[in-house]
Amino acid sequence: MDLGIAGRRALVCAASKGLGKACAISLGRAGVHLTIVARTAETLEAAAREIGESTGADVATVAADITTSAGRTAALAACPKPDILVNNAGGPPPGDFRDWDREVWIKAIDANMLTPIEMIKATVDGMMERGFGRIVNITSSSVKAPIDVLGLSNGARSGLTGFIAGVARTTVKRNVTINNLLPGSFGTDRLFSTIRAQAEKRGISFEDSVKARTATIPAGRFGDPAEFGDACAYLCSAQAAYVTGQNFLIDGGAYPGTF
Ligand code: NAP
Repeated sequence: MDLGIAGRRALVCAASKGLGKACAISLGRAGVHLTIVARTAETLEAAAREIGESTGADVATVAADITTSAGRTAALAACPKPDILVNNAGGPPPGDFRDWDREVWIKAIDANMLTPIEMIKATVDGMMERGFGRIVNITSSSVKAPIDVLGLSNGARSGLTGFIAGVARTTVKRNVTINNLLPGSFGTDRLFSTIRAQAEKRGISFEDSVKARTATIPAGRFGDPAEFGDACAYLCSAQAAYVTGQNFLIDGGAYPGTF
């Protein structure tokens, strides 16, 4: 399907690996000009080369921490008028809420709530003036089905979700949509390093830990980041103009509810 976005410009945050990179690849395949952001210059440049070679897209890079004001300024200087914005950043660490002080909470809220809100604030009015915009926030299945040890993520991302629910209804008249993509368990570096840490803690092998985790997923496997990237590209397509304020869960059936 032609997604109708060839020639558009996308700013994809936290995109040298994993889900962000997969979104950049799918958008690149649709003919979108890309600017990708991540902190580590070496992996970022390698990702840009790989995405460029595999999709034919032109890919600009910004080595910056998107959760800082300076990082956001640098990203927006490289791509001042994006038609497509994919908000993403690393997730907060797991733990016990009794150990989290104000500083820890502010860091999580900064990264997973206020950063995407700042990015939207900086770009949405221009999108509305130009009559086209697609904003996708990568959140987590923990927004729908909280995971106790991920309290920082549950809290910060739920705050973002509430904000998006309101603002997404104010922009759609001007063909600017804002949606959230909720990953379940996708085979990325982050997931595998979490599983490796859990395996060491429980004194079991990495393979047994993977088996135990995939046994809880009706699909019987982890998601392929490419599946996530293609869902993102759909939400950014011309065809998705009537989809806004939605929370699209992609989890191999792991969430057990009817709605
Ligand atoms: P990943 O494989 O570890 O990739 C993270 C990417 O983000 C890397 O390119 C990393 O590069 C970049 N990044 C991290 N922090 C950044 C920052 N402050 N500024 C700019 N770039 C940054 O992680 P992932 O699995 O794709 O996860 C992406 C998001 O989805 C995370 O918030 C995660 O919590 C959430 N999530 C993932 C899953 C899953 O199953 N994978 C499930 C639920 C939620 P640098 O380190 O070089 O900056």
